[in-house]
Amino acid sequence: MNPSNESSSAGAGRLPLQDKVAIVTGAGSGIGRASALALARGGANVCLLDLNDNRTEEVEKEIRELGRESEFYDVDVSDPERVRKAIESAAGRFGRIDVVFANAGINGTLAPIEDLTPEAWDETLSTNLKGTFLTFKYAVPHMKKTGGSIIVTASVNGSRKFSGFGMSAYSASKAGQVAFAKMAALELARYKIRVNVICPGAIETNIGENTERTKEVDKIRIPVEYPEGDQPLERGPGRPEQVADLVFFLASERSSRISGTEIFIDGAETLL
Ligand code: NAD
Repeated sequence: MNPSNESSSAGAGRLPLQDKVAIVTGAGSGIGRASALALARGGANVCLLDLNDNRTEEVEKEIRELGRESEFYDVDVSDPERVRKAIESAAGRFGRIDVVFANAGINGTLAPIEDLTPEAWDETLSTNLKGTFLTFKYAVPHMKKTGGSIIVTASVNGSRKFSGFGMSAYSASKAGQVAFAKMAALELARYKIRVNVICPGAIETNIGENTERTKEVDKIRIPVEYPEGDQPLERGPGRPEQVADLVFFLASERSSRISGTEIFIDGAETLL
């Protein structure tokens, strides 16, 4: 979707997210980066939360070149104090929070269940699931005044498709995000805060860079390839920008009736 000007309600010449403030976790790379840029193109000022400031610097610069404000916060989303401080600072600096994209995530360690260590389990669940909870916990008090939209990145894995052996912790974290977000959609509706989950299929990003893999899992892993016919809509993995278009739509008032749902962005792959 092209973040073109809003039609009737917001008035001619206004961008759909004009004067809105967005928080994006995992904003330095992949889906988070593309979405931060899409939100900025749609008029929002964007706060970037991530572990890695090198990549985020570039995003910050690109957003400023678009004429929007942007600020980087060095945050591990599994650390309550760092999440709290970052969101407090962002709300203090920008005066409001309208959109939250809880997106930071890792594949973690891929291993057969008997080889998966409790520490590896905790790392995946802490980043993906607890990180989502903490982002909500500290953003919601600021959003209650104005209403807004929260979008969570889960995955087809953990919701409609269970592929790739060794992904038990990842799948559990993603399924947990879906359940948490649905409950939150009900709880927060009274404040006019909408909550939705996006479930991407394979997207070309850097997520594989820090994925640990045991030798055993490679032996049992089903090779994930994309022979012709395997992907109904397109060949190969999707692009982060395609996911960003969906995030932009869910962030804007164009999706004002949509809350509590999960949207698959997988080119119909999970119907096979
Ligand atoms: P990515 O690795 O390109 O980006 C993830 C970002 O999250 C990185 O910038 C990383 O530094 C950040 N991050 C990781 N752990 C963090 C932490 N503890 N605190 C703060 N930031 C942290 O990967 P991506 O594919 O863009 O992943 C974004 C989301 O999309 C994840 O939740 C992932 O599970 C989900 N997802 C990805 C795919 C895919 O195929 N790429 C498919 C389905 C779902």
